[in-house]
Amino acid sequence: MIEKIKSLEVLARTLDPAPTSRAILWQQTQDYVEGFLKELGQKKAYQKAELPQLSKLVINEEGGLMSDVLDIMKTEIDHVGINSTAGQHLGYIPGGALWASALGDLLAAVSNRYAGMYYASPGGVLLENQLIRWLCELVGFPATAHGNLSSGGSIASIIALTTAREVHQIRSTNVRKSVIYFTPQMHHCLNKAIQIVGLGECICRLIPVNQRFEMDPDLLRKQLEQDTSAGLSPFLIIATAGTTDTGAVDPLEEMAMISQQYNTWYHIDAAYGGFFLLVERMKERLKGIDQADSVVMDPHKGLFLPFGTGVVLIKDGQALVNTHTQEASYMIDAYGFDEINPADCGPELTKHFRGLRMWLPLHLHGLQAFRACLEEKVFLCRYFHEEIQTLGFEVGPPPALSVTLFRYPAANPTAFNKALIEAIHEDGRYFMSSTLIEGELWIRCAVLNFRTHLQEIKGALEMIADCLEIVRTA
Ligand SMILES: *Cc1c(COP(=O)(O)O)cnc(C)c1O
Repeated sequence: MIEKIKSLEVLARTLDPAPTSRAILWQQTQDYVEGFLKELGQKKAYQKAELPQLSKLVINEEGGLMSDVLDIMKTEIDHVGINSTAGQHLGYIPGGALWASALGDLLAAVSNRYAGMYYASPGGVLLENQLIRWLCELVGFPATAHGNLSSGGSIASIIALTTAREVHQIRSTNVRKSVIYFTPQMHHCLNKAIQIVGLGECICRLIPVNQRFEMDPDLLRKQLEQDTSAGLSPFLIIATAGTTDTGAVDPLEEMAMISQQYNTWYHIDAAYGGFFLLVERMKERLKGIDQADSVVMDPHKGLFLPFGTGVVLIKDGQALVNTHTQEASYMIDAYGFDEINPADCGPELTKHFRGLRMWLPLHLHGLQAFRACLEEKVFLCRYFHEEIQTLGFEVGPPPALSVTLFRYPAANPTAFNKALIEAIHEDGRYFMSSTLIEGELWIRCAVLNFRTHLQEIKGALEMIADCLEIVRTA
């Protein structure tokens, strides 16, 4: 047996490269990253392509070369589709990918601290919990609030709605009488969450929006009155602070008062808009966010982190913990510490140590850089909103945050603007996306990438003028 073990050890040890081999891999990776970042501004924001074959992706017994993987990255992954970390990305809600976050990820992946339990990594858990505390303070939640870093807004929403369901004791006996209120502009991850956490049998009321795509609070009140008179139980009101389509912010304060009056859970989806709280002039717009029972924010949007970080904050932190704590015999060594375990605040047990990718850039660059970058985006969007009109475009309401809508007023606007967005995608210098609002097609300009500055917005306007010319003369 010793002979067998020793012979296996030879190959097993190749999984742990020696410092000299590491240095080579390290250098190749660094060269690739530097090359990528150097070319980033010149590359297309969108490259349409047939589904590529990952030609060199072979997994065999002997293993291969780093250079093969970097080749695939360069030719078949990093040049096709949306270049989401470029400042020319103005579609959907742009992501970011601060370079310092990548370093945080690297550090977390190398040391692989288990930040789910205080017992396993007291420092890692304290770091995550301090970030949660900072976020709670940003939102205006009390010291008894708590939360969880998740992979994104979708999972964060599942945690929020699970907690709401437990606090309000929604069971098979009352689910069909329980009512949820939201607007047609709510993000579809919440429809998914409603299904996933077993609330699919609740009654869902779509409350109409006003011309700025914000929930009409009078219609919400009316619906609640009707429902309570009919013997139904209002359970959950969902507001959005920054809708994906138009960046609209629902009337958070008024909805909070209505929620209190009817004793419902009040959830605010601030996945896109939440971090505008860092901008002094935007605080007024988000007033009332502290009245929520739960808030979801996406650091991989508003804090410019790479994809894979969302956050849920629950005002009643104990309810979050009660909802997500289960005991297991093999975990007994980890019990008995005062600090809240991240693993007791959501569905994930073992997870990536997400705190570092968020803490490192905040620490290195300081908050003032984030505040400036977010405020710059607000003004860039307002600038775009003004300038696009001088090209003859019709626009949506003045941007509440950093998303705006536009379309060309042609005889058949939907067909014309469909051709225009196709021309924009064909051009690819800047990426934008379109949406249907009440059946009408609009093009969106969403400014949130940290690399988007005035030069990019001017370039996007030029591209749109070029594409307009192409479509008009077609
Ligand atoms: C992006 C977004 C979500 C979903 O979050 P993911 O991080 O993509 O899972 C939810 N709500 C709003 C308003 C969003 O913009």
